Amino acid sequence: MVRGRRVHLVRGGPLGTRQETGETYPLSQVQLLPPVKAGKIVAIGLNYYTHIGDRAIPSKPEPFLKTPSSVIGTGDAIVLPSDAGRVDEEGEVVAVIGRRARNLREEDVDDYVFGYTCGNDVSAREWQAGDLQWWRAKSSDTFTAVGPWIVTGLNPDDMDIAVRVNGKEVQRANTSELIYSIRKCIAFITSAMTLEPGDLVFTGTPGATTQLNAGDSVEVEVGGIGILVNRVRAEGAGAGE
Ligand code: MG
Repeated sequence: MVRGRRVHLVRGGPLGTRQETGETYPLSQVQLLPPVKAGKIVAIGLNYYTHIGDRAIPSKPEPFLKTPSSVIGTGDAIVLPSDAGRVDEEGEVVAVIGRRARNLREEDVDDYVFGYTCGNDVSAREWQAGDLQWWRAKSSDTFTAVGPWIVTGLNPDDMDIAVRVNGKEVQRANTSELIYSIRKCIAFITSAMTLEPGDLVFTGTPGATTQLNAGDSVEVEVGGIGILVNRVRAEGAGAGE
């Protein structure tokens, strides 16, 4: 658990019972891992009017799946596959499911969400356009960045999100601008699929996304949560680059 600038070690995972061990460290001296071990990741496509451009507005939320093997935490590198062509950032608010959920009503969704974190739904645009499925466009290793931690008690209808690449702001929105609200998207997903504790729901990216190049630093900031920071490197390049 993070309080102020210190990390307090606990026994148990973030979603179950937790007992503080009494051991603490300065935040600056630890490496934060992804805040949960997700069983599955559901992501909503085309969910901000500003992101749609000339495309038709979806008549319902449009979920797709990302793999747990693609997850990285804050401070980890996003690796650009050598044969992928253009790879973009997609800053998003991410819901962390806290209880098993099936056939939820929209008004009950908050009881099943543990909290929220920042996410980057890294996307290889040429693979996204050219492949029949988005398996590698959205789930290549390192293409699902989440963190730095989970914050509870936030209002999903009023969260500010901003993305910076090398310090320059490239995306900014508020979740009040979503086409389908976070509660509506989660309820819709559970009409077909059971969500389990630790599952992640990416809620859509706003505006125009920006191409990532080796050496870039990309930050996704959500108000009330914090900043997810990832460096970008080319496949095969050393981890220190
Ligand atoms: Mg996305």
